Amino acid sequence: MTCTELLQLLDDYLTGQLFYEQQQLVEWHISSCEHCRTQVVSYRFTIQAVRHLPREVPLPPHFAHRLWQIMQEELARPQEETKDRYG
Ligand SMILES: [Zn+2]
Repeated sequence: MTCTELLQLLDDYLTGQLFYEQQQLVEWHISSCEHCRTQVVSYRFTIQAVRHLPREVPLPPHFAHRLWQIMQEELARPQEETKDRYG
């Protein structure tokens, strides 16, 4: 197995979706290849970090302000289109 082949299987490997033989090949490669071992560790770390993100991330202040501006612009628009469609 080459490093490229391993990278293609890495996602399935880490989510436990590989066949037993493939899993063995991946593990054998990881144990003999420093480069891929680093990849696996950082990949695992990324997955865990994403899983542990809080569900409700507070919005940055400028984003909330921009959203407010967009809402105001929408409200300030002439309502004729809506009338044509629904009236
Ligand atoms: Zn490798």
